[in-house]
Amino acid sequence: MKILRKRRGFTLIELMIVISIIGVLAAIAIPNFRQAREKSNMRACYANQKTILGALEMYNLDTGEQKTIQNQGDLDTLAKAKYLQSVPKDPGCISGKDNYKSNKEGDVWCEFHGAIDGCVGSDCKPDVYTCGS
Ligand SMILES: [Zn+2]
Repeated sequence: MKILRKRRGFTLIELMIVISIIGVLAAIAIPNFRQAREKSNMRACYANQKTILGALEMYNLDTGEQKTIQNQGDLDTLAKAKYLQSVPKDPGCISGKDNYKSNKEGDVWCEFHGAIDGCVGSDCKPDVYTCGS
């Protein structure tokens, strides 16, 4: 007599192996996603800095002023005068209104992400910023 045994599902061992594989893959992938997100925020911030620098130079050439960016109001002035289409917002975990600054030497930087080349005037710092630091 042949006993027919129907297999209804997975055994506990099979399920534990699959779950542990998924856990290992998630442990590898999640830090990479987080790092890529922070890096893209930093690049977007640098692109905003270049836009602000261009608008500021055009404004200063046209008006003969030596305007610098000290707060949100200075960016609003550039936007109202149509040198910026809109006021750029700093991306990232500390997304502040007054993050962008500039000085009379033509350096534009972000209070959180730093400057594009890492230098403000003669003060150069490596620009490795992560959320929470
Ligand atoms: Zn920034």
